[in-house]
Amino acid sequence: MENERIISNRQLILLRDISSLSAELNMPCYLVGGSVRDILLEQPINDLDIVLEANAIEFGNALVKKIGGRLTTHPKFHTAIWHLPESLAEHIQPSFLDLITARSETYKTPGALPTVTPSTMEDDLRRRDFTINAMAIRLDGDHFGELLDPLNGQSDLKYGLIRILHPRSFIDDPTRIFRAIRYEGRYSFHLESSTSESINSTSLDIFRMLSGERIRHELDLIFEEEQALSMIQRLQELDTFKYIHQKLPDFNPAYSDFLEMDMGLDIPASRAALGYILWLMDLNEDAILSISRRLEFTSELTHSVWAASQLKKSLPFLTNSKPSLWALALEKLPLLSVYVVYLDSGEGSLLNYISFWRHVKPHTTGNDLKAHGLPPGPRYGEILTQLRAAWLDGEITNEKEEKELLNTLL
Ligand code: ATP
Repeated sequence: MENERIISNRQLILLRDISSLSAELNMPCYLVGGSVRDILLEQPINDLDIVLEANAIEFGNALVKKIGGRLTTHPKFHTAIWHLPESLAEHIQPSFLDLITARSETYKTPGALPTVTPSTMEDDLRRRDFTINAMAIRLDGDHFGELLDPLNGQSDLKYGLIRILHPRSFIDDPTRIFRAIRYEGRYSFHLESSTSESINSTSLDIFRMLSGERIRHELDLIFEEEQALSMIQRLQELDTFKYIHQKLPDFNPAYSDFLEMDMGLDIPASRAALGYILWLMDLNEDAILSISRRLEFTSELTHSVWAASQLKKSLPFLTNSKPSLWALALEKLPLLSVYVVYLDSGEGSLLNYISFWRHVKPHTTGNDLKAHGLPPGPRYGEILTQLRAAWLDGEITNEKEEKELLNTLL
């Protein structure tokens, strides 16, 4: 834990502060989950998840009193989020810590959210997804740095194995199937054999009980990973798609390179949105809408996928059109959809639109038209569109020519 490449100095100071306060209050305290896994893998850690064998909300309040910041509490789950004071938040990312009361969980029905009861640290590790995520490092006082590993996570980490903690794990929570594939791909690990066998029609069938939002969240996380493509292909190989939606197609291997593309050109987009467009744009409209509903896409994302599919179909009719016609056709479409269809088709006009044409505007404004005494109405839009089209198509090339054209239109 003393390696600055893994834990920054400031993170370490923070952990030391937590250590002394928890000892002072006699509240056993642990770092858990992903950060422990990553420390043992000697990789930089992201978030700090803290579990207390005590009341996490009380501990959070004590932290605020001693160090500052503020607390958001979730009494029903016995958890709190400590938002770091600004002086620390500037240097530590993310700028909050999860504080959790050690707990056990039971699942009333497969796929349902768990019922939570405060318990011991060891029980808290037993409720987790995989052995490699079920280790803790004790923080309080003299215990600082002690590893708690009752499920042999360290050995699985050494041999690169993803192993569930009990045979019903994927039935209780099938989102763990996505998580397993994510860790497998991220660290080039393998599913341990009985874990792999537990991904079968019985556990996959429970996808039907999950909300679209929960499934989409997991797919989003996969698309954000560097190895997203191999993870999606692995889900395909495990025959999971039809359990998510009957019409969910294989990911077209011809689009593989695009998924790993670094998005340039100032296009506002997430990797997940890019992934869904590539995945679904070749489907018919009904299938796109039905999958969007199942995965509870935002209306913006649904529109982006639909727009890419429509644009792809209409490309043959637009080829060789004037720039003004392209601009008219593309203007209402999300830029990301235009970009994806450009990647797929290589149509230069799409790139011209993204890079240049969409920025072209006449010098004349609505105020200028008003100053010319034009009465308010649709004619304003028509004139400005005509001026823009003339610029785009090279019919005018300077302000003087624009003014001359304007005079003919007024
Ligand atoms: P990542 O590096 O992907 O963020 P992480 O381990 O930090 O990995 P989180 O999603 O932040 O992942 O979860 C924190 C911890 O909570 C995990 O390490 C795991 O122990 C536990 N956990 C998360 N999701 C589940 C789940 N569905 N079932 C059981 N335990 C889970």
